[in-house]
Amino acid sequence: MEVEKAKCECCGFTEECTPAYIAAVRAEYLGRWVCGLCAEAVGDEIRREAGTLTTAEALDRHVAFARAPRARPRKASASDDLVAAVARLLRRCLDSPPASPAAPAPPHGRKVAAGPGCPDGADA
Ligand SMILES: [Zn+2]
Repeated sequence: MEVEKAKCECCGFTEECTPAYIAAVRAEYLGRWVCGLCAEAVGDEIRREAGTLTTAEALDRHVAFARAPRARPRKASASDDLVAAVARLLRRCLDSPPASPAAPAPPHGRKVAAGPGCPDGADA
């Protein structure tokens, strides 16, 4: 069976398809080839808009959607993660004021029972 490589215009996924299938998809999606997953998403989009969305519009929307989260976070994620980490750190400091010393060492009873075996009690 003769197959050709077709690349999805939305997510860049390449699939090996028969030329007939590629042509059928292209015909349906205005000359663009989209993978099965994206075709389904585009179809959902059109159905959700109840016929007010053209295939081209749905396709454009999906292309933007499929590309944006992939292309952008890769650059932003490093700083985003840092911001999130700092925010988490700050929140942790605020959430655990020195007024709650019980939090780091709650098993008081067990500590006594463990006695010398407990690493916390080793330096005593
Ligand atoms: Zn795709």
